[in-house]
Amino acid sequence: MSGTTKFPKPDPKFAYWHGIDRTKIPWYPTIDEDRCIGCKLCFVSCGRNVFDFDEKRKKAVVAKPYNCMVGCSTCATICPSQAISFPDKEIVHKIEREEKILAKIQKKAREKKLKLDLEKIRNQVVESISKARTKASYQIVGHILEQKIFEKLMDAVADCPVDIVDIKINSPSLKGCWNLNAPSMAEFTVVSTEMEDITPCLDKVDEVIDRAGAIVVKKE
Ligand code: SF4
Ligand code: SF4
Repeated sequence: MSGTTKFPKPDPKFAYWHGIDRTKIPWYPTIDEDRCIGCKLCFVSCGRNVFDFDEKRKKAVVAKPYNCMVGCSTCATICPSQAISFPDKEIVHKIEREEKILAKIQKKAREKKLKLDLEKIRNQVVESISKARTKASYQIVGHILEQKIFEKLMDAVADCPVDIVDIKINSPSLKGCWNLNAPSMAEFTVVSTEMEDITPCLDKVDEVIDRAGAIVVKKE
């Protein structure tokens, strides 16, 4: 870093490298001004604002050395006059060994995977809940009272987490009202009492209706 004794702090987002204070890692470019031809390639290509450019002197300047990505040396590779140099990469490898960076990266990767797995499971649960059938409305016709269909339904779903609500029984004629053997129409809704999928309970409901010789006009 040409002529500077105190380096500026890195930008906050580059302040730590795997938990290590970035200013404790002496990895950054140095420019040989005699070689620099002022092409600005380093200045425009570094995505971390490490370089500045002195327009008066037509020279690149290392303005924020600790913004440099540890281990990166792209600018040295692209400099057409080999004016940029870096310390020996061994200093990075030494820090990696001492600080067990690889283990930290693996741990982070495992945690990230676990987080992604949990996210996936959560999405699957949300999806299955949203797809679960928690209620079904029926309209049936048949010998509802004669066949004691509602009594049979009560027995059939006794162990299910459901209730049967909004029950309506319609008789097509006045005479039919007093005749238990007359056919009638019924509506009811089976609802989950625990916000669960009630498909298995609906199978039992369907079976009762079928055995009683009634017909399902509508089921939704
Ligand atoms: S790329 Fe090299 S020659 Fe070009 S400005 Fe940067 S240091 Fe100078
Ligand atoms: S090594 Fe990479 S991050 Fe560092 S100054 Fe050069 S281009 Fe920028």
